Amino acid sequence: MTKTKVLISGASVAGPVLAYFLHRDGYDVTVVERVPKLRDSGYAVDFRGQALDILEEMGILAEVREHDTKMRGTTLVDERGVETGRLPAEVFAGELEVPKRDLTRILHRVTADDVAYVFDDSISALTRHASGVTVEFERSAAGEFDLVFGADGVYSKVRQLTFGPHTGMLRHLGLSGVGFSTANHIGLDRGGVLQHTANTAIYLVGLGAAERLTVSLSFATASPALDRCGRDEQEAAVRAAFSGHAWEAPRLLEAMSEADDFYFGSSCQVHLDRWSCGRIALVGDAGYCAAPTSGMGTSQALLGAWTLARSLASAGGDHTTAFAAYEAELRPYVTENQVKGRQAATMFGGEAISAGSQPTTS
Ligand SMILES: Cc1cc2nc3c(=O)[nH]c(=O)nc-3n(C[C@H](O)[C@H](O)[C@H](O)COP(=O)(O)OP(=O)(O)OC[C@H]3O[C@@H](n4cnc5c(N)ncnc54)[C@H](O)[C@@H]3O)c2cc1C
Repeated sequence: MTKTKVLISGASVAGPVLAYFLHRDGYDVTVVERVPKLRDSGYAVDFRGQALDILEEMGILAEVREHDTKMRGTTLVDERGVETGRLPAEVFAGELEVPKRDLTRILHRVTADDVAYVFDDSISALTRHASGVTVEFERSAAGEFDLVFGADGVYSKVRQLTFGPHTGMLRHLGLSGVGFSTANHIGLDRGGVLQHTANTAIYLVGLGAAERLTVSLSFATASPALDRCGRDEQEAAVRAAFSGHAWEAPRLLEAMSEADDFYFGSSCQVHLDRWSCGRIALVGDAGYCAAPTSGMGTSQALLGAWTLARSLASAGGDHTTAFAAYEAELRPYVTENQVKGRQAATMFGGEAISAGSQPTTS
């Protein structure tokens, strides 16, 4: 019997997890990833609730636990760096927290023998027809697939090609920020330090005194427009937001310019009325990002991929029934996480945004 041929765009969290379960259920799976090699993201991600059961079902929970950051909590400081309080570890580290690069490597390793990975490429066009989807790529030859999944993050190409421009689907949480690593000059050992003012936040994380310090500088913004600008303009915006700030700010702004792992991004949520269209469906941040401030993005990507694969299995491969079941089951969980994401944005310099606010343009 011919296997159902599926294409997944994105090899971070949702993509490889979906690939794992679909391969297990007998699908012929290809994953296309835009970057040339696995990302080496400096920040850590955490797992909560059912996400841990999914790692266990994949047989990788013990291995993921080996990378536990074992964070001890976060110290809150005022503008001069004087301690004002402490947050317990689970606020930012959930039930288990690991560096994202380790998670991505493990997810890739458990799927690499069974799934065809194509790095350094992207879907460029999708043409839907009754029996499948014709996919064109930027570099590879075009191909025919029975189903296509977008696991390609907040600025998903699959979503853009299927549902239209990002405008109107992204809800900006009034917050943008830069992330990079630098020498751990304060010797922060398995702990975080958070300083937030009305419009800015400095969040420092040290996974060990001998490890590099992970720095996040965030500030209030009116839109995510800076995401599309070049590094010079992004750095200038960060400098303007932190100008006149004392404590570690001057030293960190200097380190930012030298960082070779500079990352800039705005805190945005993805809101769509539906997560599928014909034979194409979205999973993880691409379909329903809750924003980094929710602390639920990784758990949601895992649960989303698992629910989608299970819905396809329960529906005997009937994608229309499966996609409807996937959405009906997952949407209440996503709605809850998105409320958390909006509420927590204020802690990192974002504006208080009401639960009912409308998507903004990018
Ligand atoms: C700074 C920061 C801190 C965070 N902290 C936490 C945290 O503490 N806890 C937590 O749970 N979550 C956190 N998150 C969120 C978490 O990383 C995401 O929610 C999670 O990674 C979502 O996984 P995903 O696979 O859906 O999407 P992503 O991880 O965004 O992956 C998308 C993948 O698609 C690829 N891609 C993009 N475009 C294309 C294309 N055209 N073609 C092919 N591939 C493409 C990308 O290269 C990437 O590999 C944080 C995020 C950021 C940015």
